[in-house]
Amino acid sequence: MKGNVRYSGRTMADITLFNSYTRKKENVHSLKKGKLSLFVCGPTVYNYVHLGNARTYASFDMIVKYLRFSGLDVFYLQNITDIDDKIIAQANETGVSAQDLALEFEQKYYQDMQELGVDSVNEYARATDFIPEIIAQVNILLEKGYAYDISGDGIYYDISRFEDYGKLAGRTAEQADDGVSRIDEAVEKRNRGDFALWKRSKEGEPSWESPWGEGRPGWHIEDTAITEKYFGPQYDIHGGARDLIFPHHEAEIAQMEAISGKKPLVRTWMHTGFLTVQGEKMSKSKGNFITAREFLKDHSPRLFRLLMLKHHYRLPFDYTESALEQTEAELRYLDAFTDRLRVRAESANPLPGNSSNRIMEDWKSAMNDDFNTPKALASLFELANEGNRLLDENKLSPEHAMGMLSILKAIDSVFSFLFQWRENLVVPHEIQEVVARREQARQEKNWAEADKARQELETLGWETQDTPNGPQVRKK
Ligand code: AMP
Repeated sequence: MKGNVRYSGRTMADITLFNSYTRKKENVHSLKKGKLSLFVCGPTVYNYVHLGNARTYASFDMIVKYLRFSGLDVFYLQNITDIDDKIIAQANETGVSAQDLALEFEQKYYQDMQELGVDSVNEYARATDFIPEIIAQVNILLEKGYAYDISGDGIYYDISRFEDYGKLAGRTAEQADDGVSRIDEAVEKRNRGDFALWKRSKEGEPSWESPWGEGRPGWHIEDTAITEKYFGPQYDIHGGARDLIFPHHEAEIAQMEAISGKKPLVRTWMHTGFLTVQGEKMSKSKGNFITAREFLKDHSPRLFRLLMLKHHYRLPFDYTESALEQTEAELRYLDAFTDRLRVRAESANPLPGNSSNRIMEDWKSAMNDDFNTPKALASLFELANEGNRLLDENKLSPEHAMGMLSILKAIDSVFSFLFQWRENLVVPHEIQEVVARREQARQEKNWAEADKARQELETLGWETQDTPNGPQVRKK
């Protein structure tokens, strides 16, 4: 038995998920009947998010949508780290204030998430809006003897005082020495792995009043201050990518469990795998990144979502051009199928058939198994193959087509790549004009002119497909 799992929650639904703490798949647990509290570490807002960050946020978007689809009432909270060394360094480099820089990139983050269809977060909480709560937590840690003051520097957490330090990452306090991620350097620290709770600010840095003088919070304390305010000292699920397990999430446990005396801080820890480039984690510091914005200039968000779903959220996957091309082909195949289905379903009676229930059951059982999206996608492709075959043989009734469409729509309420963006697609006026010109030329059998119009559309980034309902236009 690892650590100290005492938690008076209850099991919910048939969903199992992998808990990084126990390293086992477990049923979803919640403290409050029918409700799930979920916190995911949000971005540090000093730059654009890259596709690695986007993978983590799109994964949790899918996870939350599936939990809600299954009838659970999820409150999804994310923090925004809007004060941090990296923000200050970037602000100094670009000559704007740290606050303006953080606000600018916070807005850009929301825009990027909206573009990617990540719309399941209930609330975003900025670190700097929780300074009084942060100060209160640091105070308690000082009073209880878990923290100490290094004069002229800041308040530090003494990891040797917290017996369980390392229980999430499977390390001992001594091993904390090899932590590489954002270790706070200070010569007078008691243990090398001790981390800053409050940093006294240097000249020109953003700062807030505190009992220990002007300063700013350390990185880990904002999360526990925010989650305590929203959820109390214990809650159901905490997520982030793997790199946050140590020291960040370990530090959160040390802070909150020391403050409240209640264990565990979190019932289930969920961590996403990395998006990699030639086997290496995509990251800002390595410079091997593509921002979400750059990606979206050339590709549709639907492509990113499908690419992501093809890999289990916990496993790493490599970003390659060939994977993109393959996914693009799959997307076209599914689009062509849904177009055919729609046409067939047009004359259906209002009562749809339900002959594809088995596919839906297969999809659910894959999703119930720790969100196994690659397997769940296989059910979706099975439906498309079967539907296409029946359509080819002219054996698909309009009612059956409508039943298939409603299954695909249900699946897409979680996967967000089949219909989203397509249905609401606004075709600009000038594109409509070229399409109409091509249609006119086709009717007049002026193939040279029709071809010219098609090429014009392609140059403008659009394509058209001829269906029994007339031309369907979409972005390439
Ligand atoms: P940051 O802005 O650096 O705090 O990162 C925001 C989120 O993205 C955190 O949950 C990170 O763990 C996650 N993340 C960073 N790089 C990657 C990557 N290559 N693949 C997946 N998630 C990542």
